[in-house]
Amino acid sequence: MDIFSKEKRSWNMSRIRSTDTKPEVLVRSFLHKNGFRFRLHVKKLPGHPDIVLPKYKTVVEVRGCFWHRHPKCKLTTMPSSNTEFWKTKFQRNVERDKKHTKDLKKLGWHLIIVWECETTKKKFPPKELADFVAMHKAEKHLQQNRRTQC
Ligand SMILES: [Zn+2]
Repeated sequence: MDIFSKEKRSWNMSRIRSTDTKPEVLVRSFLHKNGFRFRLHVKKLPGHPDIVLPKYKTVVEVRGCFWHRHPKCKLTTMPSSNTEFWKTKFQRNVERDKKHTKDLKKLGWHLIIVWECETTKKKFPPKELADFVAMHKAEKHLQQNRRTQC
């Protein structure tokens, strides 16, 4: 028996995004360890992105594969009951993501998407995030060297 009413259940689901999920904490500690400073849940940017690095005009979004429909991912399953309800819900999520991505780009922000399935020990950090960190770390290093030479 289902102990939650439909309303209650969808309320629970809508709450999921705003909690500190494990994958998000992992990404945050990775950035922090590498000397990056960021702000969390910035309300004035499209989609209220989770992790914002103002210095690099970069936003890191951690997306749950199931909710945000990671293409070709094994976590992107379709529930076997209430299929129509889910289809509509998922479609809305995907469209919202698309819109936020576009709006961020328009404002000159770079977006790095980290999918939930990329936050396993084996796959983390995903290439785009690793590249971002490596590139800016190298830059920082260079700047520090220049400063000491002057
Ligand atoms: Zn995935």
